[in-house]
Parts: sequence; C-alpha cells; structure tokens
Amino acid sequence: MKPCIFCEIVAQQAPASIVYEDDLCLALMDIFPLRPAHVLVINKRHAQYVHELSEQERNHLFMVGNKISLAVRQSRLQPLAVHFNINDGKAAHQTVPHVHLHILPRYKHDSLAFVGSLLAKPLLMLKGGASRELLNEQAADIKRCL
Ligand code: AMP
Ligand code: ZN
Repeated sequence: MKPCIFCEIVAQQAPASIVYEDDLCLALMDIFPLRPAHVLVINKRHAQYVHELSEQERNHLFMVGNKISLAVRQSRLQPLAVHFNINDGKAAHQTVPHVHLHILPRYKHDSLAFVGSLLAKPLLMLKGGASRELLNEQAADIKRCL
C-alpha cells in the first residue's frame, strides 16, 4: 500500500514547512498552494474521515485551525478572508486520505488568480511544488503571529 504522505510528515520522514505542532495535530504549508500562505492542519493520528476522529481530536483540529487562521490574517500577506475547508472523501476531492483542515487565505480581487491556481495545479505538481524557501519564510511569518 502507498505510504500516507501526511503520516510520513508527522514521522519526520518527509519534508514540511511546519507552522505549529502539538500532541494531536500539526499545521504545515500546503506544497501546492491555491493562494499564498495556504496552510493545512492535520490530525496526527491517521484517519481518513472526520467521523473517525475522537471528539477530542475533532474539536482540537478546529480549535487549532481557528488559531492558525487568526495568525494567517495577521501575517505579512494580510489576507482579507480565509476558507476553512475539509474534503471528506474521494468524491469530495479529497486527494490525501488523511484528515486535514485547509486554511486557505483570500486576497483582494483574487477570484481569477484563485481559478488560475486551480487550473495550474497539475503544472505546479509536475514542478514538485512551491519553493521550499518561500514556504519556510511564510511558515516563519505565520508562526511569529501565533
Ligand atoms: P485534499 O485535496 O483536500 O485532500 O488536500 C490535500 C492537500 O495536500 C492539497 O492541497 C495538496 O496540495 C496538499 N499536499 C499534498 N502533498 C503535500 C505535501 N507533501 N506537503 C504539503 N502539502 C501537500
Ligand atoms: Zn496518514
């Protein structure tokens, strides 16, 4: 079976630009961001679906997601809004079958750029993702605002 990339990141066996970590969850920069400063909050224990989390894990995920969203809003990029999004199953476009909450910032007049990023995502995937240096910078900036 294919190893789960988020489990590998939790086990420090794959690279990641980490924003926050505690016993239950970990927040990292999305490597194929749909907008700048796109963060994922992942449950540390592997589970595909939200209903498979314990009540504590579910509540904690959203509590941490809320904190991260406030830090993202205060970060240098100064988004105007964020999407809180969970794709819960393949038919809902879940591509990594390990529960994660997207904190996806939105900026002034960025609707076209947002659609453009969606369409260009396969190209970014071919490229291997956003620059690690840039992701690390954004992670450090968000961390400072936590
Ligand atoms: P979803 O489509 O809701 O399952 O979201 C999975 C997200 O994980 C996508 O936004 C991907 O860009 C992101 N992703 C996949 N692999 C990695 C990785 N190695 N590091 C960070 N983010 C990743
Ligand atoms: Zn996993």
